[in-house]
Amino acid sequence: MTAVTIDRWLQGHPLIQDLVALKETAWFNPAVQEAKVALGDVGLTLEDVQDASARLGRFASYIRRVFPQTEEAGGIIESPIQAVPNMQQALSERYGLPLPGQLWLKLDSQLPISGSIKARGGIYEVLKHAEDLAIEAGLLSLADDYAKLDSDDFRAFFRQHRIAVGSTGNLGLSIGIMSATLGFDVTVHMSADAREWKKEKLRSHGVTVVEYEADFSVAVAEGRKQAEADPGCHFIDDENSTSLFLGYAVAALRLKPQLEEAGVVVDADHPLFVYLPCGVGGGPGGVAFGLKLVFGDHVHCLFAEPTHSPCMLLGVYTGLHDQVCVQDFGIDNVTAADGLAVGRPSGFVGKAMQRLIDGYYTIRDEELYALLALLEQQEGIRLEPSALAGVAGVGRIVAEANASYLQRLQITPEQLDNATHLAWATGGSMVPEDEMEAYVVKGREVLQRSPE
Ligand SMILES: *Cc1c(COP(=O)(O)O)cnc(C)c1O
Repeated sequence: MTAVTIDRWLQGHPLIQDLVALKETAWFNPAVQEAKVALGDVGLTLEDVQDASARLGRFASYIRRVFPQTEEAGGIIESPIQAVPNMQQALSERYGLPLPGQLWLKLDSQLPISGSIKARGGIYEVLKHAEDLAIEAGLLSLADDYAKLDSDDFRAFFRQHRIAVGSTGNLGLSIGIMSATLGFDVTVHMSADAREWKKEKLRSHGVTVVEYEADFSVAVAEGRKQAEADPGCHFIDDENSTSLFLGYAVAALRLKPQLEEAGVVVDADHPLFVYLPCGVGGGPGGVAFGLKLVFGDHVHCLFAEPTHSPCMLLGVYTGLHDQVCVQDFGIDNVTAADGLAVGRPSGFVGKAMQRLIDGYYTIRDEELYALLALLEQQEGIRLEPSALAGVAGVGRIVAEANASYLQRLQITPEQLDNATHLAWATGGSMVPEDEMEAYVVKGREVLQRSPE
């Protein structure tokens, strides 16, 4: 973008001025439509999500064999939900707001294999690619017991094929571990902000890790370039992949029975609000797509981004999507929130989902740390900083400044009392003990400094 166009956007767009000033901001998209109208924008259907779910079912016997930690769940990679009433009370005190309804967490932090939401999309795309290759080679049929993939013959077959991905860390972990386990020759292109322990873990699995001194978009671009020069290489494209997106969407099919089992009703009188930390957009976009298919207009999805990386908000608000990055506006894209340090949003997700996502808000890194320590104190749950972004969401929708949002939805006070708020806790269980301890200590310091 030229200096002139940036100037033009800044004038008359107070929200962009707040973003540039790194102020916490919320924006509720006035263009949101009924699910039955807007789902047509996506170009994918419930059948596609069911197909992805069935594929994960076919792989379950293989997964339980190579990852014994999934044995109890029968080889299905899934996380629990948990009500967090003490945290809800503490948030209400911190924000000086009554918080009606019930706050729950979706603990993707506990997903087996890679300990983050990336264990959904990332692993799904690798499995799909493996299935496609094996079927095409006549080595596998849909009716087989996929446990047979756990053999030297199959590993030797997959070894002839390469997989590449660009990542800030967590996607690389998922793709790297899954690909290497199947036998693939896999390369992860890591952005500068990726944690050392993630690189070490990958190398210990035999994954090739290439490091860059630049951010996520550059790591992805480099990965894409290398893969394009090699026809035997499958590039996992976090910015555009529909496979990743569908892998994430399967979460919604499984959430429905989980909520039912917990006695949580979702209908017109019991709305469900879901708060999703957003990086490039594939994870939250895919989950939200699934949720809209399953719950229609009874679910309301909001995306949460760090104040230093508000790429999806900026892209949807301006309508420029992946034609704009936060750096164009002088925002530095430097944040402690792993996985959210993305300067340019997915154009696919931004466009496909723009009439389905109710709103977007930003949160300061300091507040992520404060919430991290508060959650550990109140509920004994430890998450990585990015995973706290959604936890602030319930306060945002009931904040006075955003009252027009609930009015527009015609949500009554009774309905708000009956609402369920689900914060998607996207990662944390794999963080090494000493790093987690440092996060908690830092969070406690922030809490003490800012008793709001
Ligand atoms: C990747 C990631 C997200 C966001 O997913 P995107 O697909 O990048 O939007 C959120 N939280 C954590 C912990 C992540 O690793």
